[in-house]
Amino acid sequence: MTRAFVVGHPVKHSRSPLIHGYWLKHHGLVGSYERIDVPPSDFEKFLGSLGQQGFAGGNVTIPHKEAAYAGVAGRTKRAERLKAVNTLWIENGVLWGDNTDIIGFMAHLDQSLGAGWEREIRNALVIGAGGAARAVIAGLQERPLDQVTVINRTQPNACQLVQDLERPGSRLRSAGWDRLSTAAGQAQLIINTTSLGMAGHPALDLDLSRVSSETVVADIVYVPLKTPLLAAAAARGLRTVDGLGMLLHQAVPGFARWFGVTPEVTAELRSLIVADIEGAR
Ligand code: NAP
Repeated sequence: MTRAFVVGHPVKHSRSPLIHGYWLKHHGLVGSYERIDVPPSDFEKFLGSLGQQGFAGGNVTIPHKEAAYAGVAGRTKRAERLKAVNTLWIENGVLWGDNTDIIGFMAHLDQSLGAGWEREIRNALVIGAGGAARAVIAGLQERPLDQVTVINRTQPNACQLVQDLERPGSRLRSAGWDRLSTAAGQAQLIINTTSLGMAGHPALDLDLSRVSSETVVADIVYVPLKTPLLAAAAARGLRTVDGLGMLLHQAVPGFARWFGVTPEVTAELRSLIVADIEGAR
């Protein structure tokens, strides 16, 4: 039986077991996907024991993504770029790491906006400069945009992000928090990657009055599914992209590696997770 896991601390709220459990059942595969809570002090030992424990691989969540990056022997270019790993697998006895948040965000954006969206959307504004912002920006940098602006409460973190991810022709810049409303007015794609708007956190206070009617507003927070930002954008008639699709799509590459079948993000899977999110509130 093929075994996989999600490791984090805490990990009890992870919805990954629900996603992978759905795919295992859907494809009639004999396998398991377990939730494992490992404190930071034991993480290195945990990584070293994966083969002996009979795991094919697993997902890594907060706070272990950077430690997983440091602990793997092989890394994809995406993982190298972000210096963080969310997907592990063992290949010929070697522990590999990838970062599939990039794939997850971009796949959901492409699915939501349709192929060729970059023809209309030239300037993107990314709010936040944490780990998830790095994945979002690395994804956007693969597309031919004119500019990606990153604005974060703590500007030095945005400056560091720009320094780490900048590459020739990528037109990535940072601006101060006081420029938020102006930058929003200049962007055709606005993405919240902060934890603002998440259940139990304050909402992101973003003035949408200068935003054009063509602007797309995305949020990677998915609890609640309709964040105050997305609700405000929808009320102005703007196109919105929610955060759940990123979570679902980032899970695809791991499942394919461990269980040998590339699964699909279906409406049925999405409904299952939506019901779980709404049931937990
Ligand atoms: P992180 O590395 O801890 O970064 C948190 C970010 O939020 C930082 O930019 C931080 O700014 C900002 N922030 C926090 N509190 C703030 C406040 N009161 N005002 C303004 N900015 C504030 O976290 P992360 O891993 O990037 O995750 C961020 C969010 O994305 C979380 O809600 C997470 O659940 C969600 N997420 C979703 C997916 C998905 O699949 N949909 C994937 C990953 C993450 P400072 O630098 O100023 O502290």
